[in-house]
Parts: sequence; C-alpha cells; structure tokens
Amino acid sequence: MPKKSRSSQKRFSTKELCSFCGRPADNKTQMITGPEASICSDCIKVCNSILNEKSWTGKKFDVPSPKQIKAFLDDYIIGQEKAKRTISVAVYNHYKRIFNYKPSDEGVELEKANILLAGPTGTGKTLMAQTLAKMLHVPFTIADATVLTEAGYVGEDVENILVRLLQAANYDVRMAQMGIVYIDELDKIARKSANPSITRDVSGEGVQQALLKILEGTVSAVPPKGGRKHPEQDLIQIDTRNILFICGGAFNGLEKIIARRLGRKIVGFKTESKTVGNKIGELLTFIENEDLLEYGLIPEIVGRLPVVCSLDELDRNALKRILIEPKTALVKQYHEYFRLENIELVFEDDALEYVVDMAIKKGTGARALRSILESAMMETMFETPSMKNLKKCIITKDVIASGAEPKYIFEKKQKRA
Ligand code: ADP
Repeated sequence: MPKKSRSSQKRFSTKELCSFCGRPADNKTQMITGPEASICSDCIKVCNSILNEKSWTGKKFDVPSPKQIKAFLDDYIIGQEKAKRTISVAVYNHYKRIFNYKPSDEGVELEKANILLAGPTGTGKTLMAQTLAKMLHVPFTIADATVLTEAGYVGEDVENILVRLLQAANYDVRMAQMGIVYIDELDKIARKSANPSITRDVSGEGVQQALLKILEGTVSAVPPKGGRKHPEQDLIQIDTRNILFICGGAFNGLEKIIARRLGRKIVGFKTESKTVGNKIGELLTFIENEDLLEYGLIPEIVGRLPVVCSLDELDRNALKRILIEPKTALVKQYHEYFRLENIELVFEDDALEYVVDMAIKKGTGARALRSILESAMMETMFETPSMKNLKKCIITKDVIASGAEPKYIFEKKQKRA
C-alpha cells in the first residue's frame, strides 16, 4: 500500500494555480483556465481596475504641481502652512520621479524622500497623509509604530503594514507599490538612551531596524491575508521602492534637545537668545538630524527620512476655523444632515467658542472637537427628525455647555379657509 505523504501541503498542477498571482482557487476565488495559463477572479478584478483606471496607467499622467497639491490640502487642512508647502514639494518630486523620470547622461540618481512630521497630537499629521492619498487616488494605510516588533517577537510584523496597503489597493500589487503609508508614533520607538546599548533594545532599536528595510526600498514577501508567514501560504512580492512613507510623532521633549543645541550655538555666535522663542512649535521648526539622533532614532532611519517638517500647535483661531472651514468641517456636515430634513441649522458664535474652549482644556488638539460636538448634538439629532413643522434649529452656548434645548422655530400652520 502506498504510504501517505508526510507533507500535509497540497500540491497543485500549474493549471490549478493562477499564472499571475500564483495562488490556487478556493471557495471565494474562481479560476479561468486557458490552454497555457490560468487566471483567478481576483486578478481579473485587478485587470479590470487597471483598464478602467485612467489616471495612473498612462505614462503621460500629469503629476499635480506643488501649488495644486497645496491648494487641495488647503481645502481640508487649516494652518500648517510651512508643512503643507514642504510636503507638496516632496510629494510632487516623489511621483515625478516614479512617472516621468529619465535619468540624465551624468548618471545622477534621484533617491526616494520619505517624510517625517513632528508636532503635537491632533494637529493634522495623519490628516495630511490621508488627504494626499485622497488627492492622488493612491492606496493608503495607517500603521502604529508602537505595535510593531522586530521579526520573531510577539507583536505585529512590519510586513503587515504592506499587507494592509495591499488590501487598501484591492490586491492590486502595482497600485500598492505606489501607495502612501502613514506610520504614527515613530517617536515611541526611539531608543531609550542615545548611546547604542550592548544588549539589543527590542522595543526600540530592533523595531527601527525592521522598519528601515521597508522604508529604504526592498522587495518584501508578504502573506496576502496577513498574520505570520507560514510555509503553506503563498506569498506576494511587494517592492517598497516607490511607496511613500510618511512618519509622524509628537516627539515630546525634542524641543528641549533643540533648545539646548540652539542655546549652545547662540552663545557661540553671541546672538541674542530672544531670537529663539520658547514655544514648542517654534522650537520644532529648528529641527535638525542631530536632534533626532539625540532623541533616539537610529542614524539609518534619520537618513531615510530626509524631509522633516514640524506642525504647529493649533491656537483658538485655528480650532474655530477647523470647525467651520474645511470641506469636511463638522459644522458643514451637521448643516447637511439638517438640510436633508429640510431644517435650517444655526450654530451661534458663542456656542462654537465654547466648543473650542472645551477642546483647548482637553489638550488633544483638534481631535477633541468631534467628540465634544457629537455628544452635545446627540439629543438634538435624536429629537429633530420626528418634530413636525420644524423650520429652524438654533444651537446656543447652553446646548453645548449644559445640554439645554436648542431654540426651535416652527413653520406657521396654514389657516384653513
Ligand atoms: P495627528 O496630528 O495626531 O495625526 P490627526 O491628523 O489625526 O492628528 O487629527 C485628528 C482630527 O483633527 C482630524 O481628523 C481632523 O478632523 C482634525 N484636525 C487636526 N488638525 C487639523 C487641521 N490642521 N486642519 C483641519 N482639521 C484638523
């Protein structure tokens, strides 16, 4: 009697495997087989999206100019002028290099320029990366550096970031390879001390090393469904060379390092120390590579993040504008919901001022605005759709501050003849 194969791994004939992605058919995927090759339904979908995708397929794709990119960012992001300008240029150069680049005769090579955003929480770092992806119609994913681990340790493998990008690209490898990844909380994986330790620092340096590989450009084999790699799984190759990585972090304490360095120089150059303000945002604008090294980033990571910009803390004025002005402004969204009910919604100015006051107290930047307004509007959103003949709803300060009822104005009933 023939012995059973020891391997539990099923062997497939070439016709049972997709000639494009190499995966076998399963319950969800169908296979269409021709005389020499097969294609699975997932790859057919990808082909369709490539054929329908007008913007990125043609070599003639016009990368929007830095001014156009900035104008788009302006529609969604309040303030942060310097960061928006810097990012617009970096992103323009990045996609120009991918699409329209013919190396010069001198053999000059253009290198990828990933971006580092340093600034307090809730100031628009994630929003910036997200908005860029929206504008450029490229896949986008957010990863949190604190849950990553170096290979072999408990936690999330760095490759899982690429899996998520691939999922965001609907398994279109080509699109994923020009996507944008936002890596949050990079500051939290800084080395605890600036001096490299003899024993390896798993939480910090190891993760930075693991991240470095994908930041600098590598071909990474990823399991399509994520999780740990295991031998039975078919892997998908993703080249990270053209993926734009935007890293962000609050970098608490970095301002002290910068101040100390500037202090030294100021003494050296006999400059008035008044020239450098003490505000965190102001100090962060003077950020240099050496500050990041001192903070605990490894030199290779700093080298792979050549574009560094700081984001300002949001002041009262900016927070109020965020409530009202962006295309996705909360106040605009509420107006829209009420419009759908044929009700005119009015926020009184001091109601909005009060929301801003509460947000400032929370100290989480613009992040607090949504939760404050949402809980204040809950009751009104619950009641108004079932109120008859309601014409206008006015949100006063008391609605926000003490849960009072809004001012309601009703349509006058028509008198019957
Ligand atoms: P972080 O800097 O911590 O990454 P986010 O970008 O996640 O902050 O911002 C949180 C939320 O606050 C965003 O979804 C957005 O609604 C709002 N927000 C933050 N900063 C700005 C800004 N400069 N302009 C407009 N909205 C902003």
